[in-house]
Amino acid sequence: MLDAESLRVRWANQSCLQIWDIDSQMELCERPLDPGMAETLRQAVTRLQADRLGNDISPTQPRTMFTDHPSRTAGLSVSVFPMEDGKQALLVEVLHAGQDAGSDRVHGATALQLTPAMISLYDADHELIYCNPAARETLPDRCTNLRQRLVSETDMGTILDALDSSDSYDVELEVNTVDGARWHQMNFRRSVIAPGGHSSMLVSAQDATEARRARQLAHELAFTDSLTGLPNRAALGLYLEELLDAEGSDRPEFSLLFLDLDRFKIINDSMGHAIGDQLLMEVAQRLKNTVGGNGLVCRLGGDEFVLIINRFTATAKLARVAEGILHVMAEPVVLNGQKLRTLPSIGISRHPADGEHASELIEHADEAMYLAKSRQSGYCFFDSKMTARLNEKVKDRLGLENDLVFAVQNNEFELYYQPKICSRTLAISGVEALIRWNHPTRGQVAPDNFISIAEETGQILELGNWVLDAAMKQQRQWQDAGLIVPVSINISARQFYADDLLLNVSECLLRNGCDPARIELELTESMLLGDAEAVHQTLHQLSSMGIKLALDDFGTGFSNLAYLQKYPLDILKIDRAFLADQTRSMLMGTILEMGKVLGLCVVAEGVETAAQVDWLIGRGCDQMQGYYFSRPLPAADATRYLVEKLADGHLDEKAA
Ligand code: C2E
Ligand code: MG
Ligand code: MG
Repeated sequence: MLDAESLRVRWANQSCLQIWDIDSQMELCERPLDPGMAETLRQAVTRLQADRLGNDISPTQPRTMFTDHPSRTAGLSVSVFPMEDGKQALLVEVLHAGQDAGSDRVHGATALQLTPAMISLYDADHELIYCNPAARETLPDRCTNLRQRLVSETDMGTILDALDSSDSYDVELEVNTVDGARWHQMNFRRSVIAPGGHSSMLVSAQDATEARRARQLAHELAFTDSLTGLPNRAALGLYLEELLDAEGSDRPEFSLLFLDLDRFKIINDSMGHAIGDQLLMEVAQRLKNTVGGNGLVCRLGGDEFVLIINRFTATAKLARVAEGILHVMAEPVVLNGQKLRTLPSIGISRHPADGEHASELIEHADEAMYLAKSRQSGYCFFDSKMTARLNEKVKDRLGLENDLVFAVQNNEFELYYQPKICSRTLAISGVEALIRWNHPTRGQVAPDNFISIAEETGQILELGNWVLDAAMKQQRQWQDAGLIVPVSINISARQFYADDLLLNVSECLLRNGCDPARIELELTESMLLGDAEAVHQTLHQLSSMGIKLALDDFGTGFSNLAYLQKYPLDILKIDRAFLADQTRSMLMGTILEMGKVLGLCVVAEGVETAAQVDWLIGRGCDQMQGYYFSRPLPAADATRYLVEKLADGHLDEKAA
């Protein structure tokens, strides 16, 4: 029997003393009830008052009468009686008292003491009622409310919302601890304090900071390009997904720029991957600086980058962005004492105009990039007609690739010859051999359309040897006919780096009985980028055979005048782009002067007008080549041309 208000025991029968293991009535009356038990009883009284029932039965479960006291499995029947002093008494009958539940309790308590899991109990106001030692260890001073424990102010609301719809909620949250903010993997569970029936919240937690860091690291590794530190292809996918998902009703405008570095492969192959890597890192940094906070820069792999430009798709603005990138990338990178430059080609697609899905936008920008490669501007916007054109192009390329396999055997190649004119005497100072492919169904195919394919497939080696042989044979034939004219032969990068170049050249000279002094080899700047020692050796050996060496297309590559000094070159051919572009005539003048200072024979390519001829002669250019004098001619026509010029006394006596 208890006082309903104070919940102090007034009286107990003998069985009760036995059940709870208490020696005397006195002791029973002096001890305060376990809070859980007190709560159970208070709940029972509330229910009794509400339901006006005679007694209230609480279920059979482990119960403790007093704190730190052995527990018993028992059911309770509670009823209320008025007492003489006007107060109320509770009659608590212990029902079905089972065997000693003590060992369970003790084990449970021990487990709670020892477990590394942090277990805490909060009341309905989120005040801490209990926490085990593990939880206490991390609890900051005076942090007794769950709200204070959570770092983010919104977390409490989230937890309560979750518990409204479910009994249990698992979540990783940032919490305040004695070691500062840490991440805990937490489980929140609504519970009723067992003996008292109070609503409460049981929280079990485990420190997840390290695991989270490991996960973050794994995530970073999976979504970061290890070389440049930029987001990778997977990260781009996620970013686009988020961008597209977040759109809701108002479709966000953004643009996707697909970049591919021109000639990067050549640099990588000739200078080694370490230099290639450094170049890529520099490119990544420049792109990041250009885009700044306006979007995202990713590396898809190799020399491909994607930029997302947020919020705008206006053509003029994007063109300015693309031009800005090209401008920034035009500044050479100095690596290993060499100035390198690799300009990107940029394809641009826009959301939503050019595609709804990430894959579509990337594909379309890629297609536009492909076309940008053949544009002077260096960039190109996607338009829907492009895909069809491109499919044609790809099919075309595949077709050419297949046909190339048999073209040498089938004798489908032919050399044309274009004369070079001496500026001083206007006599012919030489001819350049230029390959043509007489394709059985396509007609004549120009070298720009198949040399790069042959380079990639490796067929250039066979083809290059055929050219060497055919050109030298022709030189010898002309010489035998009294037409003594030097022939220049274009060499491709792959041919230049092949181990047997020297052997092939010398065998070819021998086989055709050619005078090496009448043979010129035309090389391009990108070939000279490789291992300086090896390049130097090859050039030196060719040169000491008596062959003349020309640097072709000067001005389109790195325009590094250092090569001119470093290597045994004889001739400098300035690319026709310089003549065609009036604005660069100043530069052309400078190159001409430089070439002369270095003792090189300077040749201007692409001479098309009389005005250009006058200008070049005025500047002291040594030789000229271009449509103004003659287009490249088939061997028979070239022979006729040479005969005519010889008759006019216009075969350069020096060449002869
Ligand atoms: P290249 O060695 O710079 O040859 C000059 C190119 O400019 C030739 O184009 C020639 O027809 C063209 N050209 C000459 N004068 C003029 C002019 O006044 N105006 C214009 N617009 N163009 C002019 P082609 O024959 O189409 O050859 C293109 C490129 O293909 C060559 O450039 C060379 O790099 C490569 N090539 C040609 N034949 C061979 C070859 O046998 N082997 C290798 N590896 N490459 C070759
Ligand atoms: Mg050439
Ligand atoms: Mg050229």
